[in-house]
Amino acid sequence: MIGYLHNTKLSELESYSVCVIGAGASGISLAVKLSRLGQRVLLIEGGDWNETPEVVDAYMGEATAPHPQTTEFRYQRFGGTTHLWGGRCVPLDAHDFAKRSHVPESGWPEGAGAIASYYDVALDYCDAGVNNFTISAFGPNTKPIFTEAPLLAPALNEYIERYSLPTDFGKKFRQELTDSTNVLVLLRTRCVSLNTSAAGDVVESVTLHDGQQPLEVKVKQVVLAGGGIESTRLMLVTRQKTPAWQWMDTSLGKYYACHYDLIFGALRFKGELPVFDFQKTTEGIYARRKLQFSSEFQAEHGLLNAAFRLHFPAYADPSHGSGVMSTIFLAKSILKPEYQAILNHGVNQTAVRGQSIKHLMNVVMDIGSVIGFAFNWLFKIKLAKRRIPYTLVANRNGTYPIEFNSEQVSDVNNQIELLKECDRFGMPRVSVQWRMTAQDIASGIKSFNLLQKQFEKTKACRLEFEPQALQKAMENALPVGGHHMGTTRMGTAPNDSVVDVNCKVHGVKNLHIASASVFTTNSHANPTLTIVALALRLADHLTQSVTTKE
Ligand SMILES: Cc1cc2nc3c(=O)[nH]c(=O)nc-3n(C[C@H](O)[C@H](O)[C@H](O)COP(=O)(O)OP(=O)(O)OC[C@H]3O[C@@H](n4cnc5c(N)ncnc54)[C@H](O)[C@@H]3O)c2cc1C
Repeated sequence: MIGYLHNTKLSELESYSVCVIGAGASGISLAVKLSRLGQRVLLIEGGDWNETPEVVDAYMGEATAPHPQTTEFRYQRFGGTTHLWGGRCVPLDAHDFAKRSHVPESGWPEGAGAIASYYDVALDYCDAGVNNFTISAFGPNTKPIFTEAPLLAPALNEYIERYSLPTDFGKKFRQELTDSTNVLVLLRTRCVSLNTSAAGDVVESVTLHDGQQPLEVKVKQVVLAGGGIESTRLMLVTRQKTPAWQWMDTSLGKYYACHYDLIFGALRFKGELPVFDFQKTTEGIYARRKLQFSSEFQAEHGLLNAAFRLHFPAYADPSHGSGVMSTIFLAKSILKPEYQAILNHGVNQTAVRGQSIKHLMNVVMDIGSVIGFAFNWLFKIKLAKRRIPYTLVANRNGTYPIEFNSEQVSDVNNQIELLKECDRFGMPRVSVQWRMTAQDIASGIKSFNLLQKQFEKTKACRLEFEPQALQKAMENALPVGGHHMGTTRMGTAPNDSVVDVNCKVHGVKNLHIASASVFTTNSHANPTLTIVALALRLADHLTQSVTTKE
């Protein structure tokens, strides 16, 4: 069932065994699985069917540049940020869970690697096919990204990343949750506080607010699934009024991480060109190739985990000569701002104004490709259920900029803090402090230098870049918006973490967190597939513990 707070009786609200806060990728996956397992779930969502100005106010806060503002890259409505996401699905690697001597604060607690066994089902929830991330997913005799690519192994290897529809979890699971007698979804209802026992070891009730008035509701189990920033915000708000939670001060709100992203240099191919575009796997899922150093090579050279992709030239720069790219650039004023930085390669918007005539010339000179693109856009993007994730146009001169996506060191100084100012629900707003560490920059620089060296093994391809420009470029790498990780990290004990291996808050019997905020380290992988896997694993864990108690 789906309803609103004002027309639901308190006794009904208090009858559910699990109260889940937030209906995004995580909260919906958790509620769906719990419901299928026969558990009764109250799912609380601050947004409505669509995001409204009132809820946007709740996300207003501060962020240190270049981190995106706190209202960007997050969305509040049934389905959460999956309304905006690009759908790239990438699992964490086995070594992401391990203690790596060259990566400070690394090492998820023992048993956390079992999350990987939930990727099969998580991929199904995300509509991203089967758990195969090698090029064999394209079929038995698939050729490598370019003929000489096997020469780069075992140091540098080829993998694929899969793409979801992209699935809007709100749309996908709306009917199932509407029909479920096990689940009550409350829309336009915020959880503004957790109320604990004096000893802080049990959450006795939650305070819900629908914009009219607060209501205290007794709870049995609570799961915070409001996203990587909001779950932490609720914890910080509760910590402020709960002296018994003082132990959390070592980790709560700390170790915030995004991935950092840089487009730099270019691979120049002689003769045969590489596979650049999306390809469909044998089950019909769009996927793309990427290159990655092996875990052994990373350890040997002290590198953070990172991925390299062939990229398109900057849309904003008309010298690419592509009518298709210029059409996209000119049309992008109607696109969501979140995608503008991607199209511009981080080039400032004002710096690229005034190039419109050159873009228009590209459109006129290349009108045949533009018409072909319009057809593709309509039938493969706009009207298709499974969409081509984005338009890839290769440079005409056989060079491919490199997109670099890296793990970031979990640094105690990157943090989320509460501000004094409150939102309209009386919740303190947040400040997000993010910067790259010296190790992030050094690892990125080393990765490019080592990549260049690897390509010397080939005859047909060279990685070209200005060595003097690398340091500055790496220092100016951008945080990937929408990847909010680490501020309620997972660990073995309260002195190094907030939650245990089961995502249960240390020392609190009935409080769990299902969000990327529990990531101990952050890999280079986009987080949603792992967020969903964690939620599905938590559903099993909660069901087991509820059943054991009964
Ligand atoms: C432009 C863009 C592209 C992206 N592309 C990718 C990609 O390709 N691959 C990938 O893996 N990830 C991607 N992401 C990130 C992805 O969207 C998030 O990882 C994912 O949505 C997180 O799921 P979540 O459930 O933790 O949080 P969300 O999806 O943000 O959902 C949280 C929900 O909780 C609600 N909520 C929050 N606080 C409260 C409260 N106190 N009370 C009640 N309700 C509350 C919110 O309203 C929201 O609906 C992208 C994000 C953006 C913005």
